[in-house]
Amino acid sequence: MIPVNTPLLNGNEKKYLLECVETGWISSEGPFVRRFEEDIACFVGRQHGIAVSNGSAALDVAIRALNLEKGSEVIMPTFTIISPAQSLVNEGLVPVLIDSDPLTWNMDVNQIEAKITSKTKAILVVHIYGLPVDLDAILSLAKKYQLKIIEDAAEMHGQTYNGKQCGSFGDISIFSFYPNKHITTGEGGMILTDDDELAERCRTLKNLCFKPGRRFVHDELGWNYRMTNMQAALGVAQLENIQSIVERKREIGDRYNQNLKDLINVELPLKSTDYAENIYWVYGLIAKTEVMAIEIQKKLGDNKIGTRPFFWCMHEQPVFNKLGMFLGETYPQAEKLARTGFYIPSGLGLSNAEIDEVSEQIIKAVSYYG
Ligand SMILES: *Cc1c(COP(=O)(O)O)cnc(C)c1O
Repeated sequence: MIPVNTPLLNGNEKKYLLECVETGWISSEGPFVRRFEEDIACFVGRQHGIAVSNGSAALDVAIRALNLEKGSEVIMPTFTIISPAQSLVNEGLVPVLIDSDPLTWNMDVNQIEAKITSKTKAILVVHIYGLPVDLDAILSLAKKYQLKIIEDAAEMHGQTYNGKQCGSFGDISIFSFYPNKHITTGEGGMILTDDDELAERCRTLKNLCFKPGRRFVHDELGWNYRMTNMQAALGVAQLENIQSIVERKREIGDRYNQNLKDLINVELPLKSTDYAENIYWVYGLIAKTEVMAIEIQKKLGDNKIGTRPFFWCMHEQPVFNKLGMFLGETYPQAEKLARTGFYIPSGLGLSNAEIDEVSEQIIKAVSYYG
């Protein structure tokens, strides 16, 4: 079996984990947590890093911390994981959706301005699968309309936009360290900001809003979203290898590009834009039709090769439709991606022989369509 993801833990992970066990520092009070926060903040070029238990938690905290008035509209892509939309809805905010750019698979920045109203208070940027969103366009809109920017860089460790690290843009940004992200802590997340007050507020919110001085007296509700020392130990070790991780991700992508370049009926990911080179967080393919996408995935599965369908659009989520949201809205490009896109094994644990094996099976499965 070649699974869609296998993590790579071949640096100091074991050594640092052992240190947690040997010293007894296993909770969020342990020294690796602060070290990981500082290492990530330094790497990305932000003032503050606030470690949390996962990426979705990071979004919850980041969005609550911005104190947007209930009912405010926040612009975001329809083609994404549910986490950002869920955080907004749970905060009483209204996600306003944007269709995808068919080439980069990111939110089509040209469609944003038309959706800005007097209620719009923020743009939630989500970088999808390997190429960043065209941030300059977003930054200038945010300036023009005085909007906050939340950057979901969960899939983008080490990726840059015009040479600047993803996760360093906007008022507040987040990472996830789930095992399929290329820096992993098992489960984990990080909030990043340059704003001292916002950082302090995030620290309070993720820690049950304990009050300095009177610990068990609370002025507001938060969460226990703390990261453990063991998670952070993994993170510190992983981050030491970020350069080689990024290089390897690109190597995996390039090897697939080379192997699959003659495929017809299937589209490969865009290699680069004028602001970034693809980092191939996952290596996605777009089949010509929905049926074809399903059948190729089935054939690959039969040959013990893991695949995963692309995200399902937010406007088509039963949970939101049941709440009366997005009814009658259509976003044709995103719907097409959701129906015809899937990704193939692309984790850091993948060997070149496995990449070639997967490629061969794909070529076989696709050749059936002429
Ligand atoms: C993975 C991911 C998240 C959620 O992170 P978890 O750690 O799994 O909660 C959020 N946003 C995006 C874009 C992601 O890819």
